[in-house]
Amino acid sequence: MKIHEFQAKHILSKFGVPIPRSEVAETPARAREIAEEIGPRVVVKAQIHAGGRGKGGGVKLAGSPEEAEKLAGEILGMTLVTHQTGPEGKLVKLVLVEEALDIDRELYIGIVIDRATEAPVIMASSQGGMEIEKVAAETPELIFKEFIHPATGFGAYQARKLAFKLELKGDSFKQAVKFLMALYKAFEDSDASLAEINPLLVTKQGDVLALDAKMNFDDNALKRHPDIAEMRDLDEEDPLEAEASKFDLNYIKLDGSVGCMVNGAGLAMATMDIIMHSGGMPANFLDVGGGVSEEAVKNAFKILVSDQDVKAALINIFGGIVRCDLVANGIVKAAKELELDIPIVVRLEGTNVEQGKQILENSGMAFHAASSMKEAAEKVVPLASQ
Ligand code: ADP
Ligand code: MG
Repeated sequence: MKIHEFQAKHILSKFGVPIPRSEVAETPARAREIAEEIGPRVVVKAQIHAGGRGKGGGVKLAGSPEEAEKLAGEILGMTLVTHQTGPEGKLVKLVLVEEALDIDRELYIGIVIDRATEAPVIMASSQGGMEIEKVAAETPELIFKEFIHPATGFGAYQARKLAFKLELKGDSFKQAVKFLMALYKAFEDSDASLAEINPLLVTKQGDVLALDAKMNFDDNALKRHPDIAEMRDLDEEDPLEAEASKFDLNYIKLDGSVGCMVNGAGLAMATMDIIMHSGGMPANFLDVGGGVSEEAVKNAFKILVSDQDVKAALINIFGGIVRCDLVANGIVKAAKELELDIPIVVRLEGTNVEQGKQILENSGMAFHAASSMKEAAEKVVPLASQ
């Protein structure tokens, strides 16, 4: 799960990570009030779940509360396009009004789980403020890494090593070590999968603060953090994906016209491959899970057909744990209840497959039966392009 910058800063500050003074505003008038309190110089920052806001025009410096009001008026309600939003952009509903600080250096700190070493890794770079992907590609020697042993944790010596490599001195060095320790604690204790501070600011006065903050969380751990789970902003997510997650369905919206409903992630991927191999494009990835209850089939159908791009659907179920006749009953019932009017190709295989096919045939509905994946894909692709 992703959260907004202001929410990440709120979590971080509870762990003792220093952040600039700031407050969120929903209206230009409120932005002015905040600037009167913490300004007069403030930065007005669009709150969307994407980076690159500065370049896209979503981060603006205001010299006075009046200007803060004016800029907030421009940013609130705008559709902000950055390299992370895609061309359709994101609607801005909130701005963070933050005290403007004097920048001496902009550094980079990121913590992620490294799959190769199966451990968290903390990365630091003197090249903050810009796209870290670019730094990693062009000057990888400017990124320093410390791997963290899950049992012993992040050692102060590791924080000192990183602060040293960032060429911090004196009080800034001490502040950076404390910063890194607090940031790691926040990452670990909140079951984050990512904590990224870009830029980590060193002010002209030598203070070290998080000027930007991005945190992602492990969805499976959210039940341990109700306060974080509450920060979820459904407006920032694809509406169908958000709906699917309510039913524990693994659904990802794609660009094609063939809706897919499959049990098992591996089979779902193979199904997408064979659709493309037959000249079609899948409209989604949808894994209904191993059990495939009638309820799951119905919910999956609902989500599938509420996507306007879906012109035909391919149901590909392997009856291993679940019996094909049960699945067939579920499909018929759901299709009747939802009054589906798109062509549906069904490929069933496994336990009680014959009974399953019989049920589909006897339903009086126009299902297209297929006995192999290849046949199913070859049937559905022309139906979806009509
Ligand atoms: P994004 O990464 O989405 O572009 P940031 O929060 O990193 O957004 O802001 C972009 C840039 O704006 C920063 O690199 C920094 O130079 C400047 N900036 C952001 N917040 C402040 C602030 N409070 N004071 C001064 N400059 C800021
Ligand atoms: Mg940033």
